Amino acid sequence: MQLPADVLQCMDTLERAGFAAYAVGGCVRDLILGLQPQDYDLCTNALPEEIQAVFSGHTLVLAGVKHGTVGVVCHGEVIEITTYRTEGGYSDNRHPDWVRFVPDIREDLARRDFTVNAMAWSPKRGFADPFGGQQDLKSRILRAVGNPTQRFQEDALRILRGARFAAKYRLNIQEETLNAMFAQRQLMDGLARERIFSELCKLITAATREDLLLYAPILTQAIPELAPMEGFDQRNPYHTYDLYTHTAAVTAGVPGELSLRLAALLHDVGKVDTFTVDADGRGHFYGHEAKSAELAKDILHRLKAPTALTEQVVTLVGLHMHWLVPERKPLRRWLSRLGESTLRQLIALQHADLHGKGNPPETDHTPELYDLLDTLLQEDLCLSLKDLAVDGHDLIAIGFPPGKALGVCLQSLHSRVLDEQLPNKKNALLRAAAELLPPEFI
Ligand code: ATP
Ligand code: MG
Repeated sequence: MQLPADVLQCMDTLERAGFAAYAVGGCVRDLILGLQPQDYDLCTNALPEEIQAVFSGHTLVLAGVKHGTVGVVCHGEVIEITTYRTEGGYSDNRHPDWVRFVPDIREDLARRDFTVNAMAWSPKRGFADPFGGQQDLKSRILRAVGNPTQRFQEDALRILRGARFAAKYRLNIQEETLNAMFAQRQLMDGLARERIFSELCKLITAATREDLLLYAPILTQAIPELAPMEGFDQRNPYHTYDLYTHTAAVTAGVPGELSLRLAALLHDVGKVDTFTVDADGRGHFYGHEAKSAELAKDILHRLKAPTALTEQVVTLVGLHMHWLVPERKPLRRWLSRLGESTLRQLIALQHADLHGKGNPPETDHTPELYDLLDTLLQEDLCLSLKDLAVDGHDLIAIGFPPGKALGVCLQSLHSRVLDEQLPNKKNALLRAAAELLPPEFI
């Protein structure tokens, strides 16, 4: 177990002052798994004012001091040191009503959510692992600390966290824990939306298709619009899966970028509302991409997702039925309109959509699309108006009046360059522009 020098230094400083200090929680779990921890949390039997006294020579962050957390700034990084504490009450199923500092680390570990998150370690003291977190990690089991039902009733966010940790670390949720997660899931409705969203994002970027199917009761609780998709028969010979299973396959089938995963999760959410059956008994979903985009916007707004992320997801969902073809002109136009990274995401989304139907697709142009995209990107492209070899000043110099006609002319030149009807060369563009001069200016 290798801790960073600054973390070891803080632990040593506390120990020298006569206190016990441990690394605790996620960092211990990650180190055992051989992963790089995101951050290092320390816990100690020193009281907050004692921690402050021990680190009086450092810059301190005291925002969490009421709950026992003192941030110690070391080489520009904040290391959080928290007094052992226990908590209780939880009358609102999300916040403890009270927090009390305690002398024994076992009491601190007992308030934590899962056994794999309830371990502490110090080079001097070794492991504090009263709930068997190491053994559970070895057996790849996610297990609630204590009585699962009670633990999820205390804080329903733990339900979503459980699915998230299980997906991210490939753990199997112990039966009693999983049953309690499902049984208590309605309590998630009382959680702050941003807390739900933050855990949901971590879950869906890590989830496999099987995870999304297994944790459907939790996902549909977080996003109720997904619920009617479960078991929904699309009445379409190309789709052997029900709508939710298809959605799970597409979501797990795109790379783990958040906007792309969210777009995949929501790409068909409008299908239920747009479903019609024709005389032959075949299902249709006319305009479902627009309906899905509208619902995606509502859902992400409700979950308080950042605006730029929402816009990206809505764009991808709204375009997912505009099937891309590996031909220069249309692909150039898409590249100009969307930019490289969004176009790559759209290709990935359409690829996963095509492969998420339960039958192998008849045609799949994905490799050609990526090849052509690479070719186009290597060329001297004129993707936006500012890449055009002439600008407004050049047009004014040949007699264009400033104003609307000038803008229209630039747009038209750009469009013809994109379609390869004109080279992006100043002389050629000025000649073409001269033909567009309003008659009264010739
Ligand atoms: P990550 O790598 O995502 O940061 P983490 O385990 O560090 O994972 P945090 O949310 O940073 O998760 O929380 C740090 C620790 O605090 C957890 O490992 C767990 O012991 C405890 N914890 C956090 N949230 C809860 C909760 N809602 N209920 C109980 N314990 C919690
Ligand atoms: Mg953490």
